[in-house]
Amino acid sequence: MTQRPEGMPERIRHYIDGRLVDSVSGETFDVLTPETNEVYIRAAAGDKADVALAVAAARRAFDEGPWPQMKPRERWRILNRIADEIEARDAELAAMESYDTGLPITQARGQARRAAENFRFFADLIVAQRDEAYKVPGMQINYVNRKPVGVAGLITPWNTPFMLESWKLAPALASGCTVVLKPAEFTPLSASLWVDIFEKTGLPEGVFNMVHGFGETAGDALVKHEDVNLISFTGETTTGQLIFRNCAPTLKGMSMELGGKSPAVIFDDADFEAALDSTLFGVFSLNGERCTASSRILVQRGIYDRFVDAYAERAAKVKVGKPSDATTELGALVHPEHYERVLSYVEAGKAEARLVAGGGRPDEFPEGNYLLPTVFADVPRTARIFQEEIFGPVVAITAFDTVEEAIELANDVKYGLAAYVWTADVRRAHRVAHAIEAGMVWINSHNVRDLRSPFGGVKASGLGNEGGYRSIDFYTESQAVHVTLGDVHTTRFGATGYSEADPALGHLGGK
Ligand code: NAD
Repeated sequence: MTQRPEGMPERIRHYIDGRLVDSVSGETFDVLTPETNEVYIRAAAGDKADVALAVAAARRAFDEGPWPQMKPRERWRILNRIADEIEARDAELAAMESYDTGLPITQARGQARRAAENFRFFADLIVAQRDEAYKVPGMQINYVNRKPVGVAGLITPWNTPFMLESWKLAPALASGCTVVLKPAEFTPLSASLWVDIFEKTGLPEGVFNMVHGFGETAGDALVKHEDVNLISFTGETTTGQLIFRNCAPTLKGMSMELGGKSPAVIFDDADFEAALDSTLFGVFSLNGERCTASSRILVQRGIYDRFVDAYAERAAKVKVGKPSDATTELGALVHPEHYERVLSYVEAGKAEARLVAGGGRPDEFPEGNYLLPTVFADVPRTARIFQEEIFGPVVAITAFDTVEEAIELANDVKYGLAAYVWTADVRRAHRVAHAIEAGMVWINSHNVRDLRSPFGGVKASGLGNEGGYRSIDFYTESQAVHVTLGDVHTTRFGATGYSEADPALGHLGGK
């Protein structure tokens, strides 16, 4: 058995109404460490009954508890205490995250800082929140009364789990919602930290609830529960489609951050070394298990051969190693099921394109979910490895000649999450960025973003935008309140009837 991180619980349990509990059914599921695929802990497997209890607790906390009614400044204090507590646990979180997900320890570090930043950022936003007010002089004032939506169901994936959970928890809680979180079943470990963090920092009981378990049972019950007002989901596109359908009967609000197959478009005049570094990091960091990975690299013909050679040479030197080793650049993929899926794409790629680096398991790791950084060149647009999200350390490189062809290739997939454009020509950079069908485009940069910017995809990559005020908009309702200032002029039905000069008639069209 590999070295377990310190402070690990004996088993992973749900957290409902301020208490750690087992499943009503007593069921559990196995959790594996990607380094060896040994079962290292069991987690409570929630289903409808557990979700019902969690939603009831969240509903009570919303309807009767102090959280939704608190002044923004009071919530700000608690949210900042949460951020302090998260930051203080960076090392502990990194150790857990690396052990549970297989992420290299150096990349797991710093996740706490980013998670904490999410809490600080949304705390600041709610104290600075402004809302619209309109006046019709002497007649009416109209203003927006912003209210938390209610009980938020948060469903998250296994890549950087804690950070992605914070990305939903922070705006939901800042907005005054109460929540039920359903973490990913591959990686439930780090979510246990939330319990301690929230208890220490004074979040009222029932505001945060968590049910572990599989998507088809626990996740499904959360989506279908009629007392859950909205679902924020991050995960695969096909899961998103199913959740979309399952939200329809109860007409829930939805936000969906889904899969990607993001292009990096590199023109002849680009800063060659910067583009090389960035696209290597873009696809091999976080084990390639990142939604915004630059997994399709489109390179202009003039530099294509040189780029492919340089890329393959560097990829072959990316250090694959144990997640706990501080020199490791590429760790172990999250789970044997996912590993098999990624391997099947590698095999498909060998028949579709030219393998120039990697292509299988490293010799020194006969067990665990290790894969060499894998690079395919001359990948045709019809190839599965060009079209489908692999979500691992596998990249497809394709040549193009003209700007038009680059745009056409970039857009020729069903996804539209991120894109990266590399060129020294400012006008071309913007023209190409605008023409690419992606929710987010980086010019001469990899994925670095200010928390105020929108985050989200188009096409099969998502629905709705979060990020900055958009997240607060999602977790709140904008109720419009209209107040009459003067006398009310109403057409007097049943009394005097219509008069052509009646000013109230003009408002019938004011829907
Ligand atoms: P997944 O869709 O398999 O699972 C995500 C979550 O949904 C898990 O918690 C799972 O238990 C739950 N789930 C599964 N079926 C469900 C159902 N029927 N009803 C309710 N919940 C259900 O995704 P994954 O494999 O965990 O994550 C990888 C995917 O996430 C990739 O496609 C990746 O691109 C995407 N992702 C997107 C973003 C983004 O911001 N766009 C960020 C990270 C990951």
